Amino acid sequence: MEPLIQDASLDGLRSSCRRCDAELHRSAYEVRMSGTAAYYCLRCALMHRPMVRRSLVISLIVGTLLTAINQRNVLVQSGLPASLAWQVPLTYVVSYCVATLGAILNARSAGVELDHA
Ligand SMILES: [Zn+2]
Repeated sequence: MEPLIQDASLDGLRSSCRRCDAELHRSAYEVRMSGTAAYYCLRCALMHRPMVRRSLVISLIVGTLLTAINQRNVLVQSGLPASLAWQVPLTYVVSYCVATLGAILNARSAGVELDHA
């Protein structure tokens, strides 16, 4: 745990995104990779592959559960009616967005004084 904190602090002192080197103005997003941490800008944090992969897995699980709970009767009785053609995919998209938003808000380092570094 000690190297994780030290590396993140050192990266914060740079006040730039470790991935694209963009300047971090108001907030940074802490991304953890194999025992270390780095600060990314929002765009790079949103494209961070492990987070995208995790959000996809969560959206598959949650989307399937929500679809089963909300549309079970319709799906069992009449298959996949056209009215559900947009609702079911939207359930997965919303689940992905919620999982990603939760991860991003959790990774956000608000109040980090990067501008003074
Ligand atoms: Zn970046």
